[in-house]
Amino acid sequence: MEKTNCLIIGSGPAGYTAAIYASRANISNVMYEGIQPGGQLTTTTEIENFPGFPTGIEGFDLMENMKQQAERVGSDIRSGVVTAIDLSKRPFVATIDGNTQIEAETVIIATGASAKYLGIDDEKKYAGMGVSACATCDGFFYRKKTVAVVGGGDTACEEASYLSNIAKKVYMIVRKDYLRASQIMQKRVSEKENIEILFNCNTVGLFGENGVEGAHLVRHKGTDKEEMLDINIDGFFLAIGHRPNTAFLNGQIALDEQGYIELKGKTTATNVEGVFAAGDVADPIYRQAVSAAGMGCHAALDVQSFLMEKGLI
Ligand code: NDP
Repeated sequence: MEKTNCLIIGSGPAGYTAAIYASRANISNVMYEGIQPGGQLTTTTEIENFPGFPTGIEGFDLMENMKQQAERVGSDIRSGVVTAIDLSKRPFVATIDGNTQIEAETVIIATGASAKYLGIDDEKKYAGMGVSACATCDGFFYRKKTVAVVGGGDTACEEASYLSNIAKKVYMIVRKDYLRASQIMQKRVSEKENIEILFNCNTVGLFGENGVEGAHLVRHKGTDKEEMLDINIDGFFLAIGHRPNTAFLNGQIALDEQGYIELKGKTTATNVEGVFAAGDVADPIYRQAVSAAGMGCHAALDVQSFLMEKGLI
């Protein structure tokens, strides 16, 4: 069976940074890119808060640059999804796309997080027919139409601003009476004339014949002011946060109560010796591209110490 000193799972900023550091430390490493090569940043537009790009950079370009940088220093980056992994003993054995296997002395889990859904049946019913969790992927289909974005955080504001440049009208459906987003994002939203914020509203269903034509909302749910409200929309975008991608670990790694991988102290070590985690999959607090990249660096340095300790490098 093929063997590597370091298997990196996931190709966001954490994975690529880990690959760059591992390669430059002369540690053999293989990265599997996962379902979404480049990770979440490939679905965002311009990134203004990653240092080193004074005029901003497109998310896709930033990830492509990281990939090229990792490859230039010798990383072996492959398309493929780690569908299962046996962490019961070292070397660990990972299964790729349900068939090929690879042995690894250490593993860096950098699988990031995926968009959350509300959990209402209509989201499934209208999947691909007006329901989306990625404005930059699907916004194009709603030119001069009316859409709604659910959520009141930075992602929701960013998606709403983006969609407001394409769609005729954008509703934001916010369950509280305020936005959680940063001031700068709130300001951007307030400056858009075609964005209307529906505060204190929860979505209870969607309707439409051959796709989404509207949403059933409840305002002031559970109070004496409770009222039903229907809005006519062509697209329904979720922006209510993300869930860490850990299903493939099948319970072998300790998670916190929110489902993020638990790390030991200030390191990237998990509860399994030789397995490290970096980026959004293990970061319930900051969840930024630059902090994920920082964690990827830490993970590679932790791998290096571990391999040296075990006399493997
Ligand atoms: P957040 O967790 O910050 O916000 C989620 C939003 O969705 C909140 O308004 C929350 O409401 C709402 N929500 C959650 N669950 C539900 C539900 N079941 N029904 C209705 N509404 C719901 O997630 P984000 O993805 O916005 O941001 C994640 C992190 O990434 C943050 O740290 C953010 O700052 C950062 N980020 C930064 C950006 C930038 O700087 N350009 C861009 C995008 C993200 P409530 O407030 O009531 O809990």
